[in-house]
Amino acid sequence: MTQAGTRADFCVTLLGTGVPIPSPDRFGPSTLVEAGDRKFLIDAGRGAAIRLYQLAVPIGRIDVQLLTHYHSDHTSGVPDIWLTGWLESHFGTRRTPYRVIGPIGAKRLIENLERAYADDIRIRVADEKLPLSGIATDVTEFDRDGVVYEDGGVRVIAFEVDHGDVIKPCYGYRVEYGGRVAVFSSDTRYNANVIRYGAGADLLVHEVAMARPELMKEAYIQRIIAHHTEPRDCGRVFAQTRPKLAAFTHIVLLASRTVPPPTLDELVAEVRTTYDGPLEVGQDLTRFEIADTVTVRRR
Ligand SMILES: [Zn+2]
Ligand SMILES: [Zn+2]
Repeated sequence: MTQAGTRADFCVTLLGTGVPIPSPDRFGPSTLVEAGDRKFLIDAGRGAAIRLYQLAVPIGRIDVQLLTHYHSDHTSGVPDIWLTGWLESHFGTRRTPYRVIGPIGAKRLIENLERAYADDIRIRVADEKLPLSGIATDVTEFDRDGVVYEDGGVRVIAFEVDHGDVIKPCYGYRVEYGGRVAVFSSDTRYNANVIRYGAGADLLVHEVAMARPELMKEAYIQRIIAHHTEPRDCGRVFAQTRPKLAAFTHIVLLASRTVPPPTLDELVAEVRTTYDGPLEVGQDLTRFEIADTVTVRRR
């Protein structure tokens, strides 16, 4: 454990641990990674700006917006982060371009947002005299595994994952800082690349999806589950990578009008059939301080 009162200089905070369900308890997928003086946002789902506000992290302090794939629940908060982060108030204050790194599709997304919000930008420049430099964008796309960011002692490596045959591209991220490693699976089925890039991880943050057996006979449920990783398979990933701490985010608990969702205890029980190591089921604003060990701070 880290000593009481000390704070690690490498922290991961789950801003949103949810899925498309518009739940007030689990916002859309988004994760804040703070390494040294750099701040990264992995995806920006619904409510990401609200969670940053709760943490008193000005939106304009985000150095890089990383994107994993283009499902709307992972990107619907992007215009909010981009536009609200530009505002003059303490929660905004971006003066430099909104920097985005993502797989192919990032440029199209951002260019189309620039078109969609052209009137707002024109009005605020004329009315509030906001600097154009803070609403400018700087987008980098990649199309293969490799280093996508290296500066300030931080290295970010993208690696392709398998979110289904049609949902391409989709990438996870490995973030290295000061000899420590945090790995994020993104949305994926059981995938060997997560294990490969997860090697040596202090913290491995993985998605998970589960439905009760009686629901699994429904075709639409099977289709959803086929895009994700079931708890037993998450356990196999964790058992093969042996991180200091494995954690869940993007928690898909499927239900219908008649069949309730599995409970978190049931989910963990499934994982325990294949993995017996340290495990945390993330909640919104769960924070991980990565030092010699990984300390969990629950909100
Ligand atoms: Zn997805
Ligand atoms: Zn998703």
